[in-house]
Amino acid sequence: MSQFFRILIVLAGLWVILGLVKRFLAKRRSAAPKPPATNDDVVPCAHCGVYVPRAEAVHARGRNYCSQAHSEADS
Ligand SMILES: [Zn+2]
Repeated sequence: MSQFFRILIVLAGLWVILGLVKRFLAKRRSAAPKPPATNDDVVPCAHCGVYVPRAEAVHARGRNYCSQAHSEADS
């Protein structure tokens, strides 16, 4: 009977380890696409269509521009 419990404990240990490995792999997989997700935060220039990071874009009249010159050219 103690042999049975030993096998049960080993199986439970393997199950826990597999669960941790699965969680670790899932975390790595979900962490990997994050850099491209931040790169997706770009907006097209309303004048020339060039994509610029939202933080660097010039916002004017509710539209986004790649530069001050294009924001003025499109007015
Ligand atoms: Zn532009």
